[in-house]
Amino acid sequence: MVSRTTDDYQRMAEAGCVAITEPAFWAGYDRSSAQGFYDYFRLLTGFEPKRAAQYGIEHYTWICMNPKEAEDLALARDVIEIIPEFLDEDNVLGVGEIGLNKNTRNELTILEEQIALAAEHEQLILVHTPHLEDKRKGTRITIDAIKRNGKIDPGRVLIDHVEEHTVGMVLDEGFWAGMTLYPNSKCTVQRAVDIIETYGNERLWVNSAGDWGHSDPMTVPRTGIELKRRGHGPELFDKISFRNPLTFLGQCAKFKVRDA
Ligand SMILES: [Zn+2]
Repeated sequence: MVSRTTDDYQRMAEAGCVAITEPAFWAGYDRSSAQGFYDYFRLLTGFEPKRAAQYGIEHYTWICMNPKEAEDLALARDVIEIIPEFLDEDNVLGVGEIGLNKNTRNELTILEEQIALAAEHEQLILVHTPHLEDKRKGTRITIDAIKRNGKIDPGRVLIDHVEEHTVGMVLDEGFWAGMTLYPNSKCTVQRAVDIIETYGNERLWVNSAGDWGHSDPMTVPRTGIELKRRGHGPELFDKISFRNPLTFLGQCAKFKVRDA
């Protein structure tokens, strides 16, 4: 939401959205110091929940050093040092979105250190997987890094940005899989519904991209329309857009949204 206007909160509320979770990620520019991240984390934990509340939406967030800015090890470690104080904030659900951007050695080092941080603080984990040709390889490297840690229950990890060629490996290993929807690139509404029809609806859910590029929170309600068009009953949309997120996020005691 750091990149979005209140119009989006308005439209989400009108579409029936009751809660959102915002990953810590790139903020539209590379930050030059850990202090820049500190201020960003304060925005995510202080101001943004208040802005969402004006539209009746609960705002939750994740805190981490994102993979896109993790190439500078010294900076990344300075940021990792300030993460624990934010993990105690009321609206923080865990560590994320950590992962890989270009599958570099430094990104992997920082990923491993943040997996260890999440284990130490018993946090849920949200994982970003790289786009395009590096996705399959990056997803494999990430899954292996989580397993190597040895202390992480895969049922407490959501691996996001799955597509046709990665969803199977994520689900087979016991992780939750997220499909981040975009209007016409990466995972679209049509492809997400194809994936649901192929892989079922256990440990799988949809969310909308809302970032600095072409993206739209309405891709989630549009998934409901596409499911209906293909003859599915309303329970399926309810499961992949509400009940599954509730089950996963409800593992964090701070997540207050419950079944209606
Ligand atoms: Zn992401």
